[in-house]
Amino acid sequence: MNVTDYIHIQGGFKMKMYHLVIVGFGGMGNEHHERIKEVDGLTVLGVYDIKEERGEYAKQKGLKVYESLDCVLADSKVDIILIATPNDSHKEIAIKALKAGKNVICEKPVTLNSVELVEIISVANQYHKLFVVHQNRRWDEDFLTIKKIYEENLLGEIFTIESRVHGSRGIPGDWRQKKEHGGGMLLDWGVHILDQIVLMVKEKIKKVYCQLTHVTNDEVDDGFKLILTFESGKTALLEVGTSNFISLPRWYLLGNNGSAIIEDWSLNGKILRVKGSEEKDIVPVRTAAGLTKTMAPRRKDTIFEEKLPKQTADVTDFYRNVINTLSGQEQIQVRNEQVLRVMRLIDTAFQSAQLQQVLDFE
Ligand code: NAD
Repeated sequence: MNVTDYIHIQGGFKMKMYHLVIVGFGGMGNEHHERIKEVDGLTVLGVYDIKEERGEYAKQKGLKVYESLDCVLADSKVDIILIATPNDSHKEIAIKALKAGKNVICEKPVTLNSVELVEIISVANQYHKLFVVHQNRRWDEDFLTIKKIYEENLLGEIFTIESRVHGSRGIPGDWRQKKEHGGGMLLDWGVHILDQIVLMVKEKIKKVYCQLTHVTNDEVDDGFKLILTFESGKTALLEVGTSNFISLPRWYLLGNNGSAIIEDWSLNGKILRVKGSEEKDIVPVRTAAGLTKTMAPRRKDTIFEEKLPKQTADVTDFYRNVINTLSGQEQIQVRNEQVLRVMRLIDTAFQSAQLQQVLDFE
């Protein structure tokens, strides 16, 4: 590979070409390689993986294969290290890379707890290098759509948010089942859906309550229910399950003027809003053994149904933001203080689950 190609010409403008090495070329390392092909100004120079067969696979893709992490760090052509190894190894690799003068992109969950992240941030600050976490689900279109409904007050005052991710195959049978490697769903999916909620609800969080499930695994959690209470009193229920043969909707949002639902990743769903004045002459509904006005379905003329304001996004903008930050043209979007707040929430959630108590947060 010709690495002297530092200048990339695009639309008549000269851009620096940033060279990146992927450390850990498994499922996600490979995905990064594919996505980075779409990004002008950034190229994957090579990989390092402790497994020889992953090196062989990388060679077939025309990538340089480094013999060790030290060889990667000694290569002056490398601007950015991208860490896509199991969760427990992120901290050590990140600190080593930052101290060697490299910028670092790190997979989520960034570390196993907030204390480890504080250590990394302090090294990044000391060595004046960029450290950024790949919180790619900020670009999920279901999330951006629900965020739009929330921010534009389409349902009036929101009082409940429910965010769920359900599967039925348990935890993948690899390092994700081991505590020492940072396995479990709270770390795996928890960081994604917490990051989304706190980006959307810009309030202090007062209370945290968490229950972990162990349906298929004793060592690590295979799911969780997490309730956050915000300063205004609104609540968010976050739930991940891996033994759910029937999935509940991805998002459910309740406001005093309406409700919204997003059923799935394909953005099937709707908004229902109250039309005009109060409903009068409610006809009670007769259930099997009772009568209820409270739970009677609404008359059609008192509500209107709307389509979701579907949002689109390009996740490769994550990498563009990284290189534009390095060249001084943009501010980094995934900020370390945001990631740290989420890791503190994760710490508190684990504690809450262990103590079976609601805990104070901010
Ligand atoms: P994986 O097991 O498929 O790949 C990990 C690779 O790292 C393996 O090839 C392994 O040999 C290699 N490795 C292990 N220790 C190493 C070391 N010390 N140095 C170099 N290589 C090493 O796992 P994965 O699914 O690719 O997950 C990797 C990371 O990516 C995890 O942190 C995971 O949480 C994250 N991830 C993120 C997303 C996302 O959407 N952001 C999705 C999947 C995985």
